[in-house]
Amino acid sequence: MKIGTDKTARLRELIDSGPQRIVIVTHTNPDGDAIGSSLAWGELLESKGHDVTCVVPNRYPSFLEWMPGIEQLKVFKYDEDGSTARKISEAEIIFCLDFNQITRLERLSDAITANETAKIVLIDHHLNPSAGFDLIFSYPDSSSTSFLVYELIEQLEGTTAITKKMGDNLYVGMMTDTGNFAFSNLTPELFRAVASLVEKGVDVAAIHSCVYNSFTEDRLRLLGFAINKMETFKAGDIGVAYIALKENELRKFNFQPGDSEGFVNFPLTVHTLEVSASFIETKKFIRISLRSKGDVDVSKFANKYFQGGGHKNAAGGKSFVSMAETIAHFRRSAMEYFGGDVQMQDTSSCNL
Ligand code: 5GP
Ligand code: MN
Repeated sequence: MKIGTDKTARLRELIDSGPQRIVIVTHTNPDGDAIGSSLAWGELLESKGHDVTCVVPNRYPSFLEWMPGIEQLKVFKYDEDGSTARKISEAEIIFCLDFNQITRLERLSDAITANETAKIVLIDHHLNPSAGFDLIFSYPDSSSTSFLVYELIEQLEGTTAITKKMGDNLYVGMMTDTGNFAFSNLTPELFRAVASLVEKGVDVAAIHSCVYNSFTEDRLRLLGFAINKMETFKAGDIGVAYIALKENELRKFNFQPGDSEGFVNFPLTVHTLEVSASFIETKKFIRISLRSKGDVDVSKFANKYFQGGGHKNAAGGKSFVSMAETIAHFRRSAMEYFGGDVQMQDTSSCNL
């Protein structure tokens, strides 16, 4: 990843021209990268004298509650007094971090597009950003938005501007989006960045424990239940697994936002499985997560069959039909896309 100096020059112009009202927004169901990159970028902008508000569309998972500065995040869903909406409408610059389409923010999207004068800047690592941004830092080769923010800060201010608190937040994003440094795009530059964060005092073992040893008992039992429900089938040569969790099942485990985060990765620990999907039912739709190994591309699959997207090995989408229909559609689509025979392997076996 090489950030063009012409672009950083434009960014510098934007943020170096006196104090401004700035809003940073990130995606729905914010994860470690979304929050880590937002808080670190927000801290840098605050240190430059700007009035900064970080906004998340809905609540973050409880296992991230310890992140430094997270209490400053405004949860748009609970903006009862309209103060966050006001901040958005008065913003002079809006930074969009860790997502690539404003429409993915649901209700918050309208608040952003209603502000017609703000400069809108994208800082993100997902493929194919949509139109509508004034300045775009889109680097799909970056393993996380947090790493991208690290590189941006390094270019703009040098690493001396990175505080221990920023380091903690950036490290959470780098660690979680790479599956604890196990997925793709693990470049020497990333590990150099990690080394420099460790020099700032970031405690890698402590952060690992905070993030990964933070299950509630309900969440661990739900994981056990989910793994037991896993279904597998072959689509051509590709081993496919899926886990479907319905609302009434989730309720039994006192489901909280974020509780099913990462479940979709577990089937890939089986050496014969290369594609994994999870279907999590909410009141309005079914949230789909997709993961794959190696060259198997689930991003194009998500886009073609579930109006979604993401990265080659980690993508997602939504379904607005029943769980049974969603699974049937998934099985049919996987057979077609990954090279099986749709006719021979019909969906009647899909065990609901
Ligand atoms: P997750 O499974 O962790 O929710 O999402 C994995 C990846 O897929 C993320 O990079 C996320 O941005 C992307 N993704 C998830 N849901 C959607 C969706 O509905 N539309 C698009 N375009 N991307 C999605
Ligand atoms: Mn990310």
